[in-house]
Amino acid sequence: MDECLFCKIVRRESPARLVKEDDEVLAFRDTNPQAPTHVLIIPKAHIASVDDARPEDQAILGRLVLMAQSIARDEKIVPGYRLVLNNGRGAGQTVYHIHLHLLGGRGFRWPPG
Ligand code: AMP
Ligand code: ZN
Repeated sequence: MDECLFCKIVRRESPARLVKEDDEVLAFRDTNPQAPTHVLIIPKAHIASVDDARPEDQAILGRLVLMAQSIARDEKIVPGYRLVLNNGRGAGQTVYHIHLHLLGGRGFRWPPG
């Protein structure tokens, strides 16, 4: 995906504050943080949104959550953290390369806005 912003971060063509990575997953700080810890966790391979995920993406989607768990432990986020996947315009998705938000370091209300 030549013009995808997050694919460019994966290829190191766009700058990002990297947090952690493995062979299939990359994590970097959100440039407009909504909490003291706000990290975006993405698959290195392009998937546009939850709606575009296929059955064969099951493992990589699970790996995003486990990467979030690992970063939350590294950053000692207590007493809890929130994981968010915005899907589609109505839910506030602005970048169409699937990304899991890891938010922590403050309290969270329910229901979310
Ligand atoms: P969403 O609204 O769920 O699509 O989230 C997109 C997120 O990407 C927003 O929280 C933005 O602040 C963040 N963002 C946009 N551009 C960048 C970038 N170049 N590096 C890091 N985060 C970004
Ligand atoms: Zn992409």
